[in-house]
Amino acid sequence: MKVFRCEKCKSIDVFIDKANNHTGLYCGDCGKWIKWLAKDEIRLVERQINSKIDNKINSYYNNQEEIK
Ligand SMILES: [Zn+2]
Repeated sequence: MKVFRCEKCKSIDVFIDKANNHTGLYCGDCGKWIKWLAKDEIRLVERQINSKIDNKINSYYNNQEEIK
């Protein structure tokens, strides 16, 4: 499964913002622009956002950190 995440803060809390003819992907935590999205990628990002899978992944990584 592909997961879109911020390169800067590693957050997977992302959102889509349309600018002119481009659709950008931005970090919901630090606001950084992540990448321009192709049509197929927009679908995947929306799936990630709508499925709230980010909560599961975040808790997964949090648990990993606790183990360390
Ligand atoms: Zn970020």
